[in-house]
Amino acid sequence: MSVTSGINHAKQLKLNRALVIDSLRRQQCCSRAELARMANLKRATITNIIGELIDSGLVVETEILNGTKGHRSIGLRINGHRYQVIGVMVTRTSYSLVRIGLSGEVYEVQSQSIPPHLGVDELILDMERSIKHMIEENHESRIMAIGVAVPGPYLQREGEVVFVTNRIGWDGFPISARFQDAFDIPVLLVNDANAAAYAQYWFSSEDDTRRNLAYIVAGQGIGCGLLFDGELVQGAMGIAGEIGHTSIDYNGPKCECGNRGCLELYCSSLALEKRVRQRLQEGASSCLGENFSTQELTAAIRAQDPLALEEYRKNCEYLAVGIVSLINQFDPGTIVIGDQLAQMAPKVLMDTICRQLKDRLRPAIWAELHIEIDTMEHNSIAMGAAAMAARSILQDPFGYLNAEL
Ligand SMILES: [Zn+2]
Repeated sequence: MSVTSGINHAKQLKLNRALVIDSLRRQQCCSRAELARMANLKRATITNIIGELIDSGLVVETEILNGTKGHRSIGLRINGHRYQVIGVMVTRTSYSLVRIGLSGEVYEVQSQSIPPHLGVDELILDMERSIKHMIEENHESRIMAIGVAVPGPYLQREGEVVFVTNRIGWDGFPISARFQDAFDIPVLLVNDANAAAYAQYWFSSEDDTRRNLAYIVAGQGIGCGLLFDGELVQGAMGIAGEIGHTSIDYNGPKCECGNRGCLELYCSSLALEKRVRQRLQEGASSCLGENFSTQELTAAIRAQDPLALEEYRKNCEYLAVGIVSLINQFDPGTIVIGDQLAQMAPKVLMDTICRQLKDRLRPAIWAELHIEIDTMEHNSIAMGAAAMAARSILQDPFGYLNAEL
């Protein structure tokens, strides 16, 4: 056998293992025969791979399944109780941790608020302490990787966040190096919108209608994660999909990013609060006082306060303009909208955006488009960060397990 074919054989084996374990993850529980069918591999290959995975403890045999012809066979599943990952989401005001099994079941969810005065350095220290505490508290499980989703454009090569609107100190902070130094397991840093987009696909058992998807994080900033054919679009520097910084007015106000008239200056939750406050100062009538909180603004929109509702609808219209550009540039097929703005008044948001899209898109494109509000039970961003960490393990499980031995 030549050296080249030896390398190819090893590569093929690695790919087959990844294919088998990913098929098992999507099915949650199935027999060897079903796995052979799904992965399109010979029974003998499946038997060998499953044998290795069972020996390593990554896969366990489980309850007896009733086969289609009355056969009884042994079920297989990933040992999510033993092998787990942690997903972390950090926003401008809070951070959350989720602990999930490698096959996606949720074991623990935690959330912490971030005091406004806390610097990035102290925040990262606090997050490291919380993650370490979560790892130490769970003796029965082995945390194999951590996925951390950060807000704002994240430069993959440099391991830095470019900037975070309304938060000082993040620009150029070596966030990736800090987390890597603190843990002896892999830490994967991802942009928050990318994580949320990936969650929509991974946790849907990779539903085909979600292979081409855009997830819009409509909160204090406007972010977007793009999935094409089931893979995240990162771009040359990792900042693809930053629709918040596409201009909707070339002569508009200057944005922190350097551009003028950026979409997020018009339709982020900060923009909404700013406009409402300005109109209150100008004497507009409303149930809101000038020092309203986000909760009070949400309640006013839901109670149909004329000022709050009008400005919220305006925000949704601006967002729709950004979505139309996104559709015409990237044709995502499915669009999911999440975060603060979507949660304030989901029905008003959907009605307003759909009306605008119908008006501004070609009828054939509008007819084929799926658009929805994020309804995942747990936070999509933290869940997506965990899913991406799990995927990195499942692509080469023995790479991690052998390193551990
Ligand atoms: Zn901008």
